[in-house]
Amino acid sequence: MTEPERRPEPTGPEPARPELARLEARARAVREHIVDMCSGPEGGHLGGSMSAVEILVALFFHTMNIDAGDPEWKQRDVFVLSKGHAAMALYATLAERGFIAREEIATFCRPGSRLATHGNVAVPGVEFATGSLGHGLALANGTAWAQRQAGDSPARTFVLLGDGELQEGTVWEAAQVSRALAADNLVAVVDVNNFQQTGAVREVSDGAPVADRWAGFGWHTVEVDGHDLAALCSAFDEAARVNGPTAVVCRTVKAKGVGALAGRASSHFVLLDTERKRARVRASMAPAAPRATAKGEPEHA
Ligand SMILES: [Mg+2]
Repeated sequence: MTEPERRPEPTGPEPARPELARLEARARAVREHIVDMCSGPEGGHLGGSMSAVEILVALFFHTMNIDAGDPEWKQRDVFVLSKGHAAMALYATLAERGFIAREEIATFCRPGSRLATHGNVAVPGVEFATGSLGHGLALANGTAWAQRQAGDSPARTFVLLGDGELQEGTVWEAAQVSRALAADNLVAVVDVNNFQQTGAVREVSDGAPVADRWAGFGWHTVEVDGHDLAALCSAFDEAARVNGPTAVVCRTVKAKGVGALAGRASSHFVLLDTERKRARVRASMAPAAPRATAKGEPEHA
């Protein structure tokens, strides 16, 4: 039996101001959830979660055709979190989107919780267990290919990678396969926050210029400010109109939105285990957070 078509919100031009305000409010809520999770017993990967907030909000609230009431709907768009250490951002987005209850956020990393440090497939909306870096694009190749086998399905696959992750050779093996598959329905989103666990990406093993590398592998490539919701929505819409796979290279700020930590390598993993630390972080989360520059550094630093 053919499943009913459920695409009530077709993607279109850049979202209007009211929708942008709605997306911005979701981003603020996601950031609050992330800080709450870092205040749990284990702490969390704050920097790389905060840099991806607008990317996830644009995907889950503007672009992707998904159904929180039926997470495994066969015609759904698929999201793969290849940078699995940013699971807090995904859990927070899923909570805002209705896949899980907001109250579950408080269980992050506590005994018995399904909200583990890295993506857990027991959580509705988490498609794969990830965190061992370099494998998400290969998985996304598979889901994009499977979606196309379903005839004229408009379903797409989106995969989020980190810039440090691009040092993994498997990323580029998979990127070559994506082109061979002519994967029109595949979008790789790269969170270029300029840092990885052990320091600045350019000092560990510089992969710049990132966009040129994807273009060299035959991908349609778009470069945007990864905190600009309108630009992200437009880029994801553009990807639906071009032939072959698209890479959306996002210039971001690590720990974006947390003034006390933004743009700093030390934000990679943060444990807010005292009231003093929590108060300092919350006080620094002013609405006028730094914007990404071409180098991804916060303007106020
Ligand atoms: Mg990074």
